[in-house]
Amino acid sequence: MNRHIAIYPGSFDPFTNGHLDIARRGLEIFDTVILAVAKNSEKNSLFSVAERVEMITRLTDNNPRLQVETFDGLLVDYVVSKGARVILRGLRAVTDFEFEFQLAQMNHTVCSQVETLFMMTSPNFAYLSSSIVKEVGRLGGDISKFVPPLVREELMKKFGLL
Ligand code: ADP
Repeated sequence: MNRHIAIYPGSFDPFTNGHLDIARRGLEIFDTVILAVAKNSEKNSLFSVAERVEMITRLTDNNPRLQVETFDGLLVDYVVSKGARVILRGLRAVTDFEFEFQLAQMNHTVCSQVETLFMMTSPNFAYLSSSIVKEVGRLGGDISKFVPPLVREELMKKFGLL
């Protein structure tokens, strides 16, 4: 069991500066952060899982301590398969709490060796979500403060704005 790996799971549809912030801060604490894109988030998503993995990899491939993978099925099974025991999640507002609380309790009940650790959002990103970025981007708003340039470009292509 490796104590120095954290699994950072999510939809990342698309990856935002808020996600990047949590991943970077996670790397201050853990040796390796595995950013795990949920395959079950394919439905109703803007980007396919493969597209998301490709974008995140292009953004992070200069850092061997930050790995990008996908997972299917139970998150705790995936965490254990990586020899890890920590799930890293971000918390933005009180509104995130109820859902995250439920998820963390469930995961811990299913697999007691796995713990979920939360990092509070940085104030700059407290209001930032993938859905709001998609909404603003779709309507032609400036999203350059919310996502890395590469993600902005891919979003604009999706919306036929580039
Ligand atoms: P999910 O569908 O699993 O919620 P998301 O891609 O929306 O996937 O989010 C993945 C994780 O990143 C979650 O823990 C979420 O709370 C966190 N997160 C998303 N946006 C931010 C942000 N702006 N600041 C901090 N954490 C964030």
